[in-house]
Amino acid sequence: MDVEEFRKAGKAAIDHIADYYAGAIDSLPVNSLVQPGYLPPLLPDAPPEQGEDFSAITEDYHKLIMPGLTHWQHPEFMAYFPTASSFEAILGDLYALSIPTPGFNWTCSPAATELEIVVMDWAAKLLHLDPAFYNASGVGGGALQTTASDSALIAVVAARERFMALHADDPPNLANLVIYVSTQTHSLGLKAGKVLGLRVRALEVRAEDGYALRGETLSRALEEDKAAGNRPFVLIATVGTTSSGAVDSMAEIGNSLKSHPDVWLHVDAAWAGIALCCPETHDQLQLADLNLFMDSFCTNFHKWGLVNFDCSTLWVRDRKALTTALDITPPFLRTAQGDAGAIDYRNWHLALGRRFRSLKLWFALRGFGVEGFRKHIRHAIALNQTFAALVTKSELLELVTPPSLALSVIRLAPPNVAADALNGLNTALYARLSARPDVALTQTTLNGVFCIRVAIGSPRTTEENIRRTFDAIIEEAKVVLGELK
Ligand SMILES: *Cc1c(COP(=O)(O)O)cnc(C)c1O
Repeated sequence: MDVEEFRKAGKAAIDHIADYYAGAIDSLPVNSLVQPGYLPPLLPDAPPEQGEDFSAITEDYHKLIMPGLTHWQHPEFMAYFPTASSFEAILGDLYALSIPTPGFNWTCSPAATELEIVVMDWAAKLLHLDPAFYNASGVGGGALQTTASDSALIAVVAARERFMALHADDPPNLANLVIYVSTQTHSLGLKAGKVLGLRVRALEVRAEDGYALRGETLSRALEEDKAAGNRPFVLIATVGTTSSGAVDSMAEIGNSLKSHPDVWLHVDAAWAGIALCCPETHDQLQLADLNLFMDSFCTNFHKWGLVNFDCSTLWVRDRKALTTALDITPPFLRTAQGDAGAIDYRNWHLALGRRFRSLKLWFALRGFGVEGFRKHIRHAIALNQTFAALVTKSELLELVTPPSLALSVIRLAPPNVAADALNGLNTALYARLSARPDVALTQTTLNGVFCIRVAIGSPRTTEENIRRTFDAIIEEAKVVLGELK
């Protein structure tokens, strides 16, 4: 493809993308209808010997790939958590793709590092994080990561490094180190344990505490483990758990950790963290205690935050913990600027090279402004209140936990059905719902209770979309109940 062909094909691609968002997406089923193995028989089994015309390639994209897509930006996508998309971020990423730079050192492309330094501080301000986490503080700071799982892994590595340094005179045996999570922590906690070869202990949470981790549970575990010779060194707490949007009791956790200052507190707010842009969420999300107690914090702009995947933000209170853990400087990576103290972001993440992600975050922050972010978050929370009100009014459904921001956790609970029959009923209901092309929800269990999650958050979702999904649930619920009789 030469430059003139690129100009033409590029404009056509933008037109296709614009048409998709202008309405084509609405007429597509939110779920793909294909079956496993649909694609290989439709493709040659080796790359072509001669280069092909670009029009043939795009034609196949539309013909073969589109039908195999789940449309995460569809207004009726309410599974998992939303995955953000905005035109600003798409264009930011397009520019980033046009100037590939591996960004590992300041010198790789000074603008890439310096823009990330600035936009991470902008993002920290958007979310009202304490100034201790700003890059401008010179002590704490933030960097963009691929995902919340990477962010947590990095936090655990930094926590371990700090723990080993604090106990240099009595070096802990690695086999005794323990990562703390709760039973509601995302699988990223267990993943970090697997990757690092460390034990993970999942602390229990109770339904009556709204599935939030309590300080008492943490204190008891710490005493027990220390008495047994174990060395807990990090807690991954959650603001907005994946199953139910629970928020761990940060004040209690912070107070409990006062007696264990060598235990690092990482806060995983992958989904809910973005809502901190709205001051009215600060009590629910316990911002004051987060700012006081946490050592590191992660949220994903690529979930509910208007920036296309991937864009996970990680802040630490002490950047040295991070860079001591991850800095390896062979001669070929040394630079005068790095020696003089310029940020080399390779020491803030796992790999060496890194994408120029700050560009899309910058575009989105500027395009929407703080007010635009707030409006987006408030829109989804209001829609979820509408949805939750429909559930509360319905005879057949109930909320299993109070709605959390834009997430509702529900189940079928008709009158006159024995409690021990409800899991079976709901499993059947979910099986029917997930077989439909027009409904996208996720299942979960909370301490043994089978539930269905409804996660709202696409900017294009309207009240009509909410009602359609609600009606589909009721329709299938009636079928399931009919089958029972
Ligand atoms: C989605 C989610 C994750 C995982 O996010 P990745 O960025 O895909 O690793 C982790 N924790 C919570 C609370 C989440 O909601």
